[in-house]
Amino acid sequence: MNIAVIGFGAAAIGFIEKMKDSDHQIHVFEQSKDIYSSSISGIRADGKLFISRDMGGDIDIDLELQRKLVDFWISKTNTNSVDKGNSFNNSQWYQKFYDQGFDPVTAEFMHIGTDQLKQVLYNIFEDFKSYSNVHFHFGFKVEDIHVDKQYIQLNKDEKLKYESAVVSVGRSGHRLVNNMITNYPELVKDNTRMDLGIRYELPDHVVQELNTEMYEFKVKYKSKTGYMVRTFCNNPSGYVVTENYGDFATVNGHANRKQKSLNTNFAILTTVELTEPFNDPVGYGSHIAKLTNLLAGKDKVILQTYDHFKRSKRTKSLYRVKSTMPDEQYIMGDINLAFPRRIIESIIDFIENLDQVVPGVAYPDNLVYAPEIKFYSNKMDNEKYENLKFIGDCSGATRSIIYASAHGHLVAEDLLAKKAE
Ligand SMILES: Cc1cc2nc3c(=O)[nH]c(=O)nc-3n(C[C@H](O)[C@H](O)[C@H](O)COP(=O)(O)OP(=O)(O)OC[C@H]3O[C@@H](n4cnc5c(N)ncnc54)[C@H](O)[C@@H]3O)c2cc1C
Repeated sequence: MNIAVIGFGAAAIGFIEKMKDSDHQIHVFEQSKDIYSSSISGIRADGKLFISRDMGGDIDIDLELQRKLVDFWISKTNTNSVDKGNSFNNSQWYQKFYDQGFDPVTAEFMHIGTDQLKQVLYNIFEDFKSYSNVHFHFGFKVEDIHVDKQYIQLNKDEKLKYESAVVSVGRSGHRLVNNMITNYPELVKDNTRMDLGIRYELPDHVVQELNTEMYEFKVKYKSKTGYMVRTFCNNPSGYVVTENYGDFATVNGHANRKQKSLNTNFAILTTVELTEPFNDPVGYGSHIAKLTNLLAGKDKVILQTYDHFKRSKRTKSLYRVKSTMPDEQYIMGDINLAFPRRIIESIIDFIENLDQVVPGVAYPDNLVYAPEIKFYSNKMDNEKYENLKFIGDCSGATRSIIYASAHGHLVAEDLLAKKAE
């Protein structure tokens, strides 16, 4: 069978790894100009690999498969060396958080690091490229997918007809997915949810014990507003960065294995789940992001001290905690001018409560950056068309490297099993 794979990220990698030994012809279309491109794949930053039933996506992935895939990714590093840890392995920490109303998330994780990831991606590519049935087409942006029972056609081009297509464009491919939803609305299962919040930065020494114990601490908390709030992506000795979505900029964080800062950063996210007639979480989130950027100046985000964030006062100078974000990427301001009150209250409630477990988390000069937004892609229906599958983050089913590659793996397994029938 001739199969088109759209996008070369974590999900496509899981799919191709499983398919490469078959007799299917696999054509990979990737918009980035080559494998070295800084825009290629969502796996260019950080590279924390989790083994967990509680995080990474909304599908059930067997722990054994998760472990197998973690081993696969690590085997593609040049050094075979990664940082490892367990969150909430220690029952005392678990109890402390639990007693304060938090729901601690248990996970095992390995950290490849931003600096090693490029090499990993390159090594995977070199391996796939050596297979005669895997064909790469870089610098190829797919803008239109036509679905017919007999074939899938790309970009309205007669020469680009395939028996089957696997869409693995991640979150950055939202335009293509939106275009498909417009043409094939039956592909959407549900879309009502998004995570909106901030990136929090504080000195390493405040959270040293926690960082040493588990590196990545993940907790959920039902705040007094009724919203669920959670930590996400903890980066000891890390850096806060902006993430550009083209028409708006948000905040993110990462850590290197070698170059270290003196600060830890993590996201504090509030899950907003709205009901009918609401059906545009991306629109809602991107409007808030754009409003924040409007106040901060194009492509910039807002930085505020925690005390000012609480009191809705514009920050004009920082005190002890120095920002790890380059000066030209933020403006000091007041996030309260852009964020809904219920979100702000949920975040403050979370930080104040966290301070009871880890004293110092609520120091007035800790830093708050906004907006940090995690979009849940629309949940796509893979049963509607036999020859069209969505895998990874663009399917709405995953949010992590391991879950995305596992999703690719499982869809490939399904396809191979069908062929064998
Ligand atoms: C800054 C950052 C840090 C992260 N850190 C971690 C982490 O530490 N651990 C973790 O588990 N997860 C992390 N994630 C999430 C993780 O990267 C994603 O969950 C995962 O990469 C999803 O895989 P995917 O294949 O669905 O999409 P991606 O890996 O994003 O790949 C999609 C690919 O499709 C291409 N593409 C998009 N549109 C088109 C088009 N129209 N035509 C052709 N090609 C197209 C893109 O260029 C890209 O190469 C992070 C994400 C970000 C943004």
